[in-house]
Amino acid sequence: MSGITDMIYADNAATTKLSKAALDAMMPYLEHAYGNPSSLHKEGQIARRALDEARNDIADILNCSTQEITFTSGGTEANNQAILTAVSDQRNREKKHIVSTAFEHHSVLHMLKKLKRSRFEVTLLDIPQDGIIRPQQVAEAVRDDTCLVSVMHANNEIGSIQPIDEIGQICRERGIMFHTDAVQSAGHLPIDLGKNPIDLLSLSAHKFHGPKGIGILYAKRGIHPANLLEGGAQERGHRSGTENVAAIAGMAAALNEAGRNMNENTARTAHLRDRLIRGLETIPHSILNGSKENRLPGNVNFCFEGIEGETLLLLLDQEGICASSGSACSAGSLEASHVLLALGRSRELAFGSLRLTINEENNEEDIDQIIAAVKEGVARLRESSPIWHDKLSGRKEYYL
Ligand SMILES: *Cc1c(COP(=O)(O)O)cnc(C)c1O
Repeated sequence: MSGITDMIYADNAATTKLSKAALDAMMPYLEHAYGNPSSLHKEGQIARRALDEARNDIADILNCSTQEITFTSGGTEANNQAILTAVSDQRNREKKHIVSTAFEHHSVLHMLKKLKRSRFEVTLLDIPQDGIIRPQQVAEAVRDDTCLVSVMHANNEIGSIQPIDEIGQICRERGIMFHTDAVQSAGHLPIDLGKNPIDLLSLSAHKFHGPKGIGILYAKRGIHPANLLEGGAQERGHRSGTENVAAIAGMAAALNEAGRNMNENTARTAHLRDRLIRGLETIPHSILNGSKENRLPGNVNFCFEGIEGETLLLLLDQEGICASSGSACSAGSLEASHVLLALGRSRELAFGSLRLTINEENNEEDIDQIIAAVKEGVARLRESSPIWHDKLSGRKEYYL
């Protein structure tokens, strides 16, 4: 089996490595403690205890109550469930308007598209140049019949961090439910559900060194998650299906570890990120996508004029560097990134994008190796591009 170990892994927004702490927490429930938490016998009760402990730990870390946590199969399910919860709440019976943004994850956008085909109206906010939604945009978009505002905490492609406290406050003052997709921020940025004015929040373990296929829907007291699946009464009837005990234990351990090391990891990673940005900025006719200041510590995203991002990825792969041209979900789909288009990039530029998402395990040597490989890759691709030669000779205008 080939490992990722000899590669420079710079695709942490797609997924992260399972931490040792998470793996250790999972092992007992994979190896021998295989009881069903709903069984009344001793083996079942061992699994039940693991579930309860994980929920208690997570509630402590997020500063909420255990009843506000529903375990889901990941971020996609949590986002779907959050939206359906808001629109089917009794209090929103008469309301049919939803506000969100043009650069949400597809698990939000596609659900909203589906709702638009029934009785709902959706307003998607435009994305300002720096990739940060202004609270004023939300205040201007909401109506008397708005039942939900959904704005992500940090964007998965360009890493820009959104002012969710101000947005949540606007919603609270108007009695509108506020959901945030915190899949990219959980474990990386502070979240305090006792303070942040959030009604619904989604997170996913595999973005903070936990296992894949497990996540959380947080629903504030008084909001009852609408069940997507018909079946047993697990998760207090909010999510049917036998609980993934090992994954839940692993997620709790990963979230705990991420919280303990957050300040240190952020400082280390942001320093590496800024070194990477400085290095790539020297490439002519390039642009950093998203805000330089309000940005996830590990996110770097550039557009390079005159190249195909996907081809650059293949060159980087040959050099032992794992990167992405946008979100993993749209990779290979031959569609320009909806996030970059929403930022106002032309289709041609959007196709020339590169996302590098690093973490605390990278070092300066990795960063310098990435910079050198990207510089060389961009130069090679431009050399063989007819469009680029048209620009060089003045037959075509540069965008950047
Ligand atoms: C990864 C991601 C998701 C989807 O989470 P899964 O657990 O992979 O389903 C949703 N939103 C954002 C912002 C993400 O980065």
